[in-house]
Amino acid sequence: MTKRTRPWGYSDLTDAQLPDWNLHTDTVSVRGGLARSGFGEGAEALYLNSGFTYDSAEQAESAFKDETEHHLYSRFSNPTVAMFEDRLAAIEGAEACFATSSGMAAMFASVACLVKQGDHIVASASMFSSCYVVITEILPSWGVTFELVEGTEEKDWAAALSKPTAVVVIETPSNPLMEIVDIAMVSRLAHKVGATVVVDNVMASPVMQKPLELGADVVFYSATKHIDGQGRVLGGAILGSREYIKTKVLPFARHTGPSMSAFNAWVLLKSLETMTMRVERMNSSALKVAEFLAQQDGISLVSYPFLKSHKGYDLAKRQMGGGGSTVAFAVDGDKAATFKFMNALKVIDISNNLGDSKSLITHPASTTHRRLSPEVQATMGITENLMRLSVGLEHPDDLLHDLKQALGN
Ligand SMILES: *Cc1c(COP(=O)(O)O)cnc(C)c1O
Repeated sequence: MTKRTRPWGYSDLTDAQLPDWNLHTDTVSVRGGLARSGFGEGAEALYLNSGFTYDSAEQAESAFKDETEHHLYSRFSNPTVAMFEDRLAAIEGAEACFATSSGMAAMFASVACLVKQGDHIVASASMFSSCYVVITEILPSWGVTFELVEGTEEKDWAAALSKPTAVVVIETPSNPLMEIVDIAMVSRLAHKVGATVVVDNVMASPVMQKPLELGADVVFYSATKHIDGQGRVLGGAILGSREYIKTKVLPFARHTGPSMSAFNAWVLLKSLETMTMRVERMNSSALKVAEFLAQQDGISLVSYPFLKSHKGYDLAKRQMGGGGSTVAFAVDGDKAATFKFMNALKVIDISNNLGDSKSLITHPASTTHRRLSPEVQATMGITENLMRLSVGLEHPDDLLHDLKQALGN
């Protein structure tokens, strides 16, 4: 666990009281960032307060001058949120973290804090539809230009990254088609033109992919997905160097207010304790589901990174610890046949969420990616018979049974 630099929690302990070896992720997931209040509470305390008080006017002044560390206001920082940030940073192997109210708040703040009018963004074309709207509509309306590239093609990246670029955004695996982008290759090309590489690591989760180790600069999450993973709260997180969080993210977030609530941080701290177990189980079940679907009659496509038939299989095996919890697949037939199949499922729920303990199925063309034009949907491979299945924690045999009966096989 990282030694805390704040004046509470672990920094009150002597070095001799702290483990002097590298702890495993499982251990960091339950103990990282823990800062007990002095009452000796076992579980993390919920500091459900908006403001903080000072012993003296002098202390307030020095806190505002950043001379002493003291929480000022929960829009900037909060003890429960800080525990979540420190724990997730320890799991990710990042120097620092800032927690946000949702994944989109994390995406927007992580990129917007780096760009000004006239700057250029390069992004992989296949991405979560709200990220697509931020890059292709919202930021351009403020004078930030963009170019989208076919994420799997090195030559397309090389061409796009021959121009001065402020930020590169990649989502890998992509939502919903599970395409794989080579994080190390893109980071190398991006750094040559001085760009900051931001990775949407939602689909892989902190358990299965470490973009910072592969050369990326910034990672963001929708904590709503695998981090909570139990369908309860929204949340997000931005991770990167101390310098980036301190000089870019914090000033931006402090004044624009995308902060995470203490209550959500408290829920998410507990979720982190079981995240590794949950994600490993979801990944192993997703592989079983993908292998099963690939052998079924009536299925025209299965896209899962750890299936040998996947275009990015070798790369996925190198860069990920598991193939993810999401399987994209299509039935033979039109939209009506697809809806009929979805409606026949008895265990798997129809929902636009993912990374949940309950298995969820989505029809991207009519829901999550509906806002994209038919042409853009086509370039992303989103057809009317495509579905995205987020594999949960049910027994995998019950999921296979459910899929089989809905296919009528
Ligand atoms: C869900 C999701 C987001 C946005 O997260 P919210 O918590 O819903 O705001 C961003 N990127 C990907 C890949 C996602 O799946």
